[in-house]
Amino acid sequence: MRRPSAVFTAIAAVVVALFALGASVPAALAQGKEHVNIDTPKDRQEFSIYVPPLAPLTIPVSACDNIFTRKVKLSVGAGSASNTSFAGSPTETFPGDRVCVAQNLTFSPDQAQADQELEVVIVATATFAPPNQSTVTATNKVTIKIKTVGVKAWSDGDHALAWTDFQGPVPNAPKDDAETFCKINWHISDDVKSEFNSRTSSWDATARKGIKTRAVFVRKQSWVTKKSDQTLHHEQGHFNICEIYRRKLDKKLKDLLGGLEGKGSAATQPEAEKAALADLAKKVTKKIEDDVTRAIKDHLNACDAKQREYDREHGDPPGTHHSQDQTAQQAWDTQIEKSLNNQPSSYFPDP
Ligand SMILES: [Zn+2]
Repeated sequence: MRRPSAVFTAIAAVVVALFALGASVPAALAQGKEHVNIDTPKDRQEFSIYVPPLAPLTIPVSACDNIFTRKVKLSVGAGSASNTSFAGSPTETFPGDRVCVAQNLTFSPDQAQADQELEVVIVATATFAPPNQSTVTATNKVTIKIKTVGVKAWSDGDHALAWTDFQGPVPNAPKDDAETFCKINWHISDDVKSEFNSRTSSWDATARKGIKTRAVFVRKQSWVTKKSDQTLHHEQGHFNICEIYRRKLDKKLKDLLGGLEGKGSAATQPEAEKAALADLAKKVTKKIEDDVTRAIKDHLNACDAKQREYDREHGDPPGTHHSQDQTAQQAWDTQIEKSLNNQPSSYFPDP
């Protein structure tokens, strides 16, 4: 009762929980003082937004004062700033001289920012109307947490699906009662560690390939029309199959890349790390690169094919016919469990 997809991307759904940010320029500024603070509301407000791949995240910011021109800049994360600014008509007017603008700042989280704490820096620049015409700048920093709550990762421990996880829109004239959208994500990084060697008075660095893989269930793309325990159990099987191939891929990538090590020594830490990374890069040969690419492709294709086998009506082994065939469902359940317990299963050979 579903068709899954293995998609070739690293992070598909990024959801962000953040604090509401309020940037208010105090009225004292109108007199041209050169110092200003932006206040963050005391009562912290957290909310989540579902953000499709690389879609911009919107952060509401308000700035208050009789600002003639205004500009607010947002930067996120150390070094990976993606700035934006706004200027526009005031949307709210308050008694006295104060004018408030409430506008949205946006930035596009990239996949490396998922599941990380990031510092957001808001810089508000206000230029006041004549006769003062002074320009002041205020900054504030807030930490936000970018969470991938739009997906449920099998390895996060809580991998049991519930109908509340199926939050996607139902397509027109659905052929099935439910659909599970799950996929395998991977991320390969250059990890470098260094330490000062007091004997040689130099820095020694070691670089290795970091490998992260996740089997994720995408809530906003999974849907249900007719809820039953039997169907939910069957959908869980799809997610579990995804995890089985995630583990196989993880092992294969570690076999290919885990043993590689780059070394570097130098008088300074950055130089040593640079040398170690260069040494590691030399060891990642074209053949290894090709093997990695092929391994990823093979595992995703195998997962996809297995999901279809699980659903099919005929064949060897017999499919569950979308859970209609309960005898076959039990046979698959047994094999899925075996494989998840790291026992060999004839249903799930290595690709
Ligand atoms: Zn199915």
